[in-house]
Amino acid sequence: MKIPFVDLQRQYQQHKTEIDQAIHQVLDQSNFIGGASIKSFEGQFAKHSGTKHCIGVANGTDAIYITLKMLGIGAGDEVITSACSWIATSETISQTGAKPVFVDIDKDYLIDVGQIESKINANTKAIIPVHLYGQMADMNAIKKIADKNNLIVIEDSAQAHLADRDGIAVGSKSEAATFSFYPGKNLGAYGDAGGIVTNSDQLAEKCRQFANHGQIVKHQHKIEGINSRLDTMQAAVLSVKLNHLAEWTAQRRKIAAQYNELLKGVSGLRLPIVNPNSNPVYHLYVVSADNRMELKEYLKRNDIATAIHYPTPLPFLECYDYLGYKIEDFPVAQAESDRILSLPIFPEMTDDEVNYVCDHIRRFYDSH
Ligand SMILES: *Cc1c(COP(=O)(O)O)cnc(C)c1O
Repeated sequence: MKIPFVDLQRQYQQHKTEIDQAIHQVLDQSNFIGGASIKSFEGQFAKHSGTKHCIGVANGTDAIYITLKMLGIGAGDEVITSACSWIATSETISQTGAKPVFVDIDKDYLIDVGQIESKINANTKAIIPVHLYGQMADMNAIKKIADKNNLIVIEDSAQAHLADRDGIAVGSKSEAATFSFYPGKNLGAYGDAGGIVTNSDQLAEKCRQFANHGQIVKHQHKIEGINSRLDTMQAAVLSVKLNHLAEWTAQRRKIAAQYNELLKGVSGLRLPIVNPNSNPVYHLYVVSADNRMELKEYLKRNDIATAIHYPTPLPFLECYDYLGYKIEDFPVAQAESDRILSLPIFPEMTDDEVNYVCDHIRRFYDSH
């Protein structure tokens, strides 16, 4: 058996007819930028999110940048975020001219809410919690801190489509939530794509304007913007795939439950921590493993692909050397970065495949 980390081909083959049809419709109309497919997808995605607006943009990175910028974040400001994420989260803070300020994680890999207030000063303007691996950060607690200190909250939800926690959906307790529709994400396009959801009419209008060269009405540029539109072909693909997202999420949860069951009690392995009243969507299933690199190699030799998300905490990337952080500043992030291993998970993964992965993990630790 050969187990890929994700398998986008299987999904395409299962839904080929309706996806091909959607793509061909765009080709037939040859309306490649803008048009009805975009509006339709945005409306559908807003509805799924339970928010008033969705603005389609070119990718999940731009979604964060545009939102920060349109909320007035810029030079001289500080934005607090988690030490563990994909670089897009902090890169976009820097793009606005603001300074990223990192907070260590808890054992659930989410921002340690208890440490946020110690990082707030007169320049702090916003917090970007990251719903990493598909589990929501503690939005109730974060919102409380934000309100007390007059801060904006933007949720980096690139890995958390349809997640909820404490009865709260992504995007409902913040100024805005941003999404990536990168092909491998839980809802993935066939190229780059992203989106912003918000309940604010004003923010929605500003983001829409900025993402399209500063125009709402063609050739009327009240401001300069950027070119970061969701393209029509991607919107058409996403509309088809959005109809299957709930069933795919259910599949991911089922696979995670199988992993939990089959890997229970393996010494040397810590399974993902799920907070009370939290419903993660398992973009990734990440274990904390003794002898992580040896395990990874052993699985590879047995044709099981794994990955590491992410090998280096953000503050310790070379590009942030100038911030002068020390290992002791982020003890949990540092310790976990040597232990985390992402196991294969995708909606089409079979029971046999999950069993095969778990058998090999057990075999590895039995001989250690
Ligand atoms: C994927 C991802 C992004 C960026 O999305 P792109 O569409 O690749 O630009 C941002 N934040 C997190 C946490 C991500 O996983």
